[in-house]
Amino acid sequence: AKVDGKNRWACYDPERNAREIARITLSAAMPAALERGEFYVEYQPIVRLSDGALLGAEALVRWAHPEFGRLGPDRFIGLAEETGLIVPLGRWVLATACAQAAEWAAHAARTGGPQPSISVNLAARQLVEPGLVDDVDQILRAVGLPPASLQLELTESAIMGTTGEPLGALHKLVDLGIRIAIDDFGTGYSNLAYLRHLPVHALKIAGSFVEGLRADEPDSVDAQIVRALVSLAHTLKLDVVAEGVETRDQADRLTALGCDSAQGWLYAKPGPPEEINRWMDQH
Ligand code: C2E
Ligand code: CA
Ligand code: CA
Repeated sequence: AKVDGKNRWACYDPERNAREIARITLSAAMPAALERGEFYVEYQPIVRLSDGALLGAEALVRWAHPEFGRLGPDRFIGLAEETGLIVPLGRWVLATACAQAAEWAAHAARTGGPQPSISVNLAARQLVEPGLVDDVDQILRAVGLPPASLQLELTESAIMGTTGEPLGALHKLVDLGIRIAIDDFGTGYSNLAYLRHLPVHALKIAGSFVEGLRADEPDSVDAQIVRALVSLAHTLKLDVVAEGVETRDQADRLTALGCDSAQGWLYAKPGPPEEINRWMDQH
């Protein structure tokens, strides 16, 4: 008999069985859910630390499941990557978010404010899809969004070790004028020597490092890690975005550590697109 990582018997675990059934059920329901329009996108502001100005927003997908209610991406993105549904789902998120960003751009043009950028998460599986560059190009043209307004976020594992075709795709995306950010930087495996040669514009520091920042511990291990990441990013001429900023204290520490911009509940939780319009009008 096998014992799982938590030292429990793996075979007769009813909870684990129920989870497995839920996984398979969700996975099987996803294609029809995409057809029926059960997925929707929320947007979270990204602000400049120095003055709190709105720089852009990150698109985060959700699933309004008819039975289970609102599901976060942690419940279904992994499954979508396994089945390949992430390709059409990711394309839909991209098209939706870019159309939304084009509306914000029009709103900014009317009110004379700056135009917020849009950040969209790209799964590793999407990067190896041959049609990606054409899809992105077509979407941008269709909605009339300048490529410089789009930032694609890839995790370290998706971006590191990309060679051949996927690396070519990354370069083509950058040639279109799109910006690339490395998501959750510092949590995965990063080859720093390799990073220099990648077409990347920004690093996003994972919330797990931000969590440990406190005014009364200016030299905590997390503070030193953030300082090192910011310094590395700036040496490579990359922007640094801190994620998961929940307190004023953390924002102040991040500013002191030289971080450029931030995202987190301190500023706003992910919400409907109108919230970003409100930000554009108020700030
Ligand atoms: P992520 O890209 O690292 O996104 C940031 C996550 O942190 C989001 O979780 C966001 O709601 C959450 N967050 C924001 N501010 C705070 C804060 O102050 N404190 C805390 N504790 N959390 C905060 P969410 O929306 O559940 O998304 C989870 C992950 O799912 C994302 O992590 C991203 O990797 C993935 N994801 C979301 N949308 C997409 C998508 O359209 N495509 C792909 N491939 N992945 C997506
Ligand atoms: Ca992200
Ligand atoms: Ca992240």
